[in-house]
Amino acid sequence: MSLDPALINGRPAARRVTRAVRIGRVQVGGGAPIVIQSMTNTDTADDFATAMQVAQLARAGSELVRITVNNDEAAQAVPKIRERLLAMNLDVPLVGDFHYNGHKLLTDHPACAEALAKFRINPGNVGTGAKRDRQFAAIVEIACRYDKPVRIGVNWGSLDQSVLARIMDENHLRAEPLDAGAVMREALVTSALESAKLAEECGLAGDRIILSAKVSSVQDLIAVYRLLAARGDYPLHLGLTEAGMGSKGIVASTAALAVLLQEGIGDTIRISLTPEPGGARTQEVVVAQEILQTMGLRAFTPMVTACPGCGRTTSTFFQELAAGIQGYVRDQMPVWRDQYDGVENLTLAVMGCVVNGPGESKHANIGISLPGTGETPAAPVYVDGEKVVTLRGDGIADEFKAIVDRYVATKYQKKG
Ligand code: SF4
Repeated sequence: MSLDPALINGRPAARRVTRAVRIGRVQVGGGAPIVIQSMTNTDTADDFATAMQVAQLARAGSELVRITVNNDEAAQAVPKIRERLLAMNLDVPLVGDFHYNGHKLLTDHPACAEALAKFRINPGNVGTGAKRDRQFAAIVEIACRYDKPVRIGVNWGSLDQSVLARIMDENHLRAEPLDAGAVMREALVTSALESAKLAEECGLAGDRIILSAKVSSVQDLIAVYRLLAARGDYPLHLGLTEAGMGSKGIVASTAALAVLLQEGIGDTIRISLTPEPGGARTQEVVVAQEILQTMGLRAFTPMVTACPGCGRTTSTFFQELAAGIQGYVRDQMPVWRDQYDGVENLTLAVMGCVVNGPGESKHANIGISLPGTGETPAAPVYVDGEKVVTLRGDGIADEFKAIVDRYVATKYQKKG
């Protein structure tokens, strides 16, 4: 039996060819690396708190940050937020999220329009009846005036009801009507594409438009984005809306996005996690990075491979070492990134016993195989597949970090 090469090549499909959209200094689509974005949850009117959270998200690796612009106070705060960020030497593009009153806020606050790098419009929340197209056109005209791109972001929680009603009517006339889920997906895609067409008719260039169509069900999301990808060449913003909290949100987002990214669909991603009480907003950025890095699509920070542990290692030392090393490389990355080219591709392994320890350690740039229960208390360290030293005693963690530091300093090119 011969195997289909597409099934065994171990690589994602070629990226879907799209237009390139510039958002400040960031390019989305057109073959650019998949862009990570996030969104604040502060009151935008509090320009200090919002600027601080944008800074945290940007420093964690968010390449675009969206802020809600929901009232006059928020619109007035946007230029101040931008100034605060520039004073911190952070030129991260800000995306304004508009619902219901975007046409009015952008008209009344030109400094807000100027300070934003992109506007997000939800066609389901622009207005109803004749006002809908007029208010949509008003936002697009401001985007044209200030040369800003627009994301047309539809969401099944706020789907344009007039589009849904029309698709339902058309469905009734079909010889074989679609089921309710398919009608909803068709309405989402139609709303996004018709809004993009309207934006172009209002004068917005095709390479100033990004589309998204978010739902909270994994299978619906995959189906909707396959439809969107097949029907145009606008760059696509991927995200499972209202993904949820903790492991559920992470798993659901990863399940949906991994399928689409593997098919070459998706130009920018956002992971919509509900933070745990007191949890860091930056977790959504870390998850987005880890999805792209574990899929081999981008590299951001050295990855640590660690075994899950089992009855062969009763000590928690290797768990602590794995967590300590992962934290250490994350903490060091801002410095390393400025100093060394390619350090984000470094791979590390921390393993619990001799069963898979030496083998897995040899696959990593630097690996350590800790002693399991009953083994000699010695931890061989492998560098680029060769055993270089055996560590013993209480200083293993510090000595291993020193080996990592030396490797980074000698293996990666210093930046000029
Ligand atoms: S490497 Fe050893 S300790 Fe880790 S899971 Fe495998 S058998 Fe268990």
